[in-house]
Parts: sequence; C-alpha cells; structure tokens
Amino acid sequence: MQRIKQLSTLLSNQIAAGEVVERPASVLKELLENSIDAGANKIEVSIKNGGRKLIKVTDNGAGIHKDDLALALLQHATSKIRNLKDLASVTSMGFRGEALSSISSVAKVLINSRQQEASTAWKADADHPVSSTGPVPSAHPVGTSIEVRDLFYNLPVRKKFLKTERTEFVYMTETLKKIALAFPNIEFSLEHNNKPIKKFLKALTNTQYEKRIADIIGKDFISNSLKLDFTSGNLSLNGVIGQPTFTRNNSAMQYFFVNTRVVQDKLITHAVRQAYHDVIYHGKYPAFVLFLEIDPEAVDVNIHPRKSEVKFTNPRQVHDFVRHAVQKTIANNKLEDNYQHTTFAVTDSYYTYAPKPGKIKLEVKEQLESYAPIVNDEQSLGYPLGFALAQLHNTYILAQNTQGLILVDMHAAHERITYEQMKTSWDADNLKLQPLLVPIVLNVTEAEAQMVEDKPEVFFKLGLKLERFTIQQIRVLEVPALLVNSRIENLVQNVLAECVEFNTSAKVSQNINKILSGMACHGSVRAGRTLSLPEMNALLRDIETTENSGQCNHGRPTWIQIKHQELDSFFMRGQ
Ligand code: ADP
Ligand code: MG
Repeated sequence: MQRIKQLSTLLSNQIAAGEVVERPASVLKELLENSIDAGANKIEVSIKNGGRKLIKVTDNGAGIHKDDLALALLQHATSKIRNLKDLASVTSMGFRGEALSSISSVAKVLINSRQQEASTAWKADADHPVSSTGPVPSAHPVGTSIEVRDLFYNLPVRKKFLKTERTEFVYMTETLKKIALAFPNIEFSLEHNNKPIKKFLKALTNTQYEKRIADIIGKDFISNSLKLDFTSGNLSLNGVIGQPTFTRNNSAMQYFFVNTRVVQDKLITHAVRQAYHDVIYHGKYPAFVLFLEIDPEAVDVNIHPRKSEVKFTNPRQVHDFVRHAVQKTIANNKLEDNYQHTTFAVTDSYYTYAPKPGKIKLEVKEQLESYAPIVNDEQSLGYPLGFALAQLHNTYILAQNTQGLILVDMHAAHERITYEQMKTSWDADNLKLQPLLVPIVLNVTEAEAQMVEDKPEVFFKLGLKLERFTIQQIRVLEVPALLVNSRIENLVQNVLAECVEFNTSAKVSQNINKILSGMACHGSVRAGRTLSLPEMNALLRDIETTENSGQCNHGRPTWIQIKHQELDSFFMRGQ
C-alpha cells in the first residue's frame, strides 16, 4: 500500500466531472440551469459538432460580478446557498457549486459576462487562470455567455465513448425540450453548426403554452390529452396527460417535474401507472407532462450529482396524491372534452385498429330514412352522443349528433359500463343478487367444488350464491342482478377458476378488478346480437354518464366521432 496523498484540485475536479459531465447534453443542462437561475428570459444555444467542438449558451440574465468570475470556476463555489438551512429549502436549479469547475477540468471554458450596473463586460478564460491575468474587459450585452470547447480533449477514453454527432445532438435537443417545457416564460433558440434549428417563443398564455407542448411532444399528444390541475395541502399537481387511448410503446413521452426540476422517479412512474392501470391497453405506456409543486423542505434535491433524482420526505403521500389526481382526471374525462380531442383523424399508429379515412366502408343494412322521425334536431342537440340510427353488422352502433357521426363498439362500451357499475357496487359492498328461476348445475373440478363448500362467503361477496351439489358439481342459485342476462355458465366457471387461483378472500379482494372485469366481459352484450333502437339509445346515455367509458376494459376506444368536416373532405365536398 502506498501512503495517503491529497489529490490535486484538477484531478479532484476531473473525478467530480465523471459524475456531472456524462456527455455534451449534461453540459448543456448545467449551463441552461445557470442561465435560468440568473433570471434570464431569453436564452440562445449554439452547438458545433454535436457538442464536441462547442456548446455555447448566451443569456440575458443578471450576469456575474467581475470579481466573482474566477470564483465561478472553483469547486464548491456558489452564489445560491450559504448554509445547511439554505440547502434544505433550495429553490434554484443549481446549488452544488461544482458544474463550472467540473466542466472546465474536462473542456476549455470561456466566460463573458456583464452586470447591469457595470460599465463594461468582463471575460475569464479557465485555461489562463484569472489569478495570473485578472479578468479582461470585453464586449457583451447585460447577461452571460459561456463557451465550452473541445469537450474531453484531455480525456481520450471518455471522448471515445461519445456517440455520433447526430445522436449527441438529439440528446441535447431532448435536454433543451425538457427545460423549455418547465419554463414557458423564457424564449429559447437553438442552432447547430451555424444553422438555426429550433425556436421556442415566450408562451405567456394557455394557447401559447399548448403550442409549445405541441411543438415539443407533438400535436397528436395535445389533441388527445386532458388537462390536470389538483391541489391538496402542500401539494399541487398540474399539467397535461394523454387520454387512455393515446398510448406509446415506451416511457419516452413521460415528463415529470418537481418544482420545475425534471426528474426520473420510480415512485411517480408507479403512481401514474397505477392510475392508468384499469383503462390502458396492456403493455402500453401513457404520455404525460406533469408538474408537482411541493414545499422545498419536503423534498431532498441533493441525492444525485446531476440532480435528476429527488427524495420525498413523505413518499407515500406524494405517491397517493399523484395517483389520485391522475385517476380522477381520467375518470372525469367529460364527453365534451372528448369531442374536441377524440377525432377520427388521429395518427394511425395510435389507432391501428381504426379504419383509415381513405378506406372506410359503411355498410348500413337498414334504410336510414325509416328512422328519420327518431332523429329530429331538437333531440341530436340534447345529448353529446346523439341518437342511434342503426346497427352495423350487429357490432357497431351508428349514431348522429350535432357534430356529425358517432360509431360505438357496443360490446366494448357495454363491458366498460358493466365493469364500472360492478366496481361501484363492490366498493359500497352492495352487489345485488337475483335468484335464478331454475338453478343451474355445473360440472367443476373437485378443488372448485371444495372451495364453494368451504368458502361460500367469497362468492357471495361477488354476487354469486353457489352450493356444492356433488363431488364435482355445484349449483348456481343466485347471480349479480347486473349480470342476470349473461351466459351464467361461462361467467361462473371463470370466477371459480380465478377464486381457486387466488384462494383466500384477501387475495380475491386484492385482485378484485381483474375478477370484476372478467365478470363484466361475460355479462355484456356480445357483438353479433341485434339491439333495438331504445336499447342502443340507452347504451349511449349510459356511456355519457359512466366514468372511464371512453375506453374499454382493455384500453381500446369504445366510440369515435367522425365530424362533418371529415365526412365532407372524405367525399371531397367543396373541393
Ligand atoms: P451552482 O449553479 O451550483 O451554483 P455552478 O458551477 O454551475 O454552480 O456555477 C457557479 C456560480 O457561477 C453560480 O453560483 C453563479 O453565481 C455563477 N454563474 C454561472 N453561470 C451563470 C450565468 N449564466 N449567469 C450568472 N451567473 C452564473
Ligand atoms: Mg449550476
């Protein structure tokens, strides 16, 4: 073993840089955060060669005092906190005082800055220590420019790990986008190799902010999204979440900010996932941009060198609050909102199962005229989903409302309605039973028959009165009133199999959504059954008033709106 020696400042900065400066995008993040902390409302970013050659950030913020220029480049030098108490309640983006020192130990850094009251700007070159030359006067408007050149010039191994110029540039754009989402009142511009690439104008109104989100995440997201705004005690959550039918194959469209700081947080991802669990297509990911505001003292932001993770003092409270807020927003998703959002012309990838506008072929069996008296204007105005006109292939309901045409997948819609009703009754411990006129005898496994004999209360709670008949037979005496018209045999077989799998009544309760959703599936009108017009209209009214009814139990849409304009353009009317 060698004797202990203190590392040189340069080497310790380079070691710190290993954590802070992973790639060009992390440099950009630190520089942008500094500009934001300086109160800038205009920030320009200029990149060369994917950030290897140059990353320059220019802001119109408060600037740096001439005498502080040298300090800014030193490790643990910050203007943002003074003591432990400040750290506990920090509201600025930076506070660790190590970004500029780390960056300047692995790249060539030049700072140019001017404060409002100063007669000139001053520049400091990290490669020529200010202590020897002192800052040099320069020309710069009020604000700061920081140029970072030749990243990792002195660390060839790190340089080798960088990806292609294009990939590194994409990472940098992602960084800028996240920050632009959190700071709508700042104007951002980005150029690469002297070419202007992006500009985000200040977004001071809701419409302007929606435009910025659309610009960053995509128009499809905005037109298939719901606004969210919730407050409870010291927590508030606001932002935009995707409709359950707008899903992605990965979590790339999930943005979460804690006090404007973008964070990756398993707790939050879990909370949002739970909120969508019951309404989203299996294996898909929801999209969201959510801002959590929390008392700074209730969150520790100093647990990660790049400040991309946080730790909540009361994680359970935050988790449940986020889950509840998202769940409520999805459930309250009013049909009127859907009108604006769920249109036929959504991108194919999200609605692969919906026919493409150019290929739609409606085969209406019945003569529409024969239903004309049912649809008079006074009535189509009355209800958001309008009135049923006909049934297509015994599968879809065709309805007319003021905006155009509605198509409903009747089985999917009825299944969701039944499921929601079952959940509500289960929660209220109020699943009503209805005796069968003639009890049904079912052949089952011995384990199933045994469970019926041993634990009849488990089934009773699910609205089923069952009794053992023989070794491998049971009798069904009563069923949930909501499901009385379903195929009882299949329904009971299914419930039996699941209950035997879960075995205890506690496990049944834990998995109740799965069981109720299975029961609802059996208890809903099947595709292929002919419905009368009053039945169809009753279904439309139920959709309008049932929570989550815009998507079926598996997350597929239950109805779509085709607007007049879409029909007109389909038939090239007025063109
Ligand atoms: P931190 O942001 O954690 O304080 P940094 O190393 O990023 O640490 O920056 C050191 C200091 O330099 C900051 O505390 C701030 O006073 C000053 N500074 C850096 N960038 C800017 C800027 N763009 N405008 C004004 N001051 C800046
Ligand atoms: Mg900083």
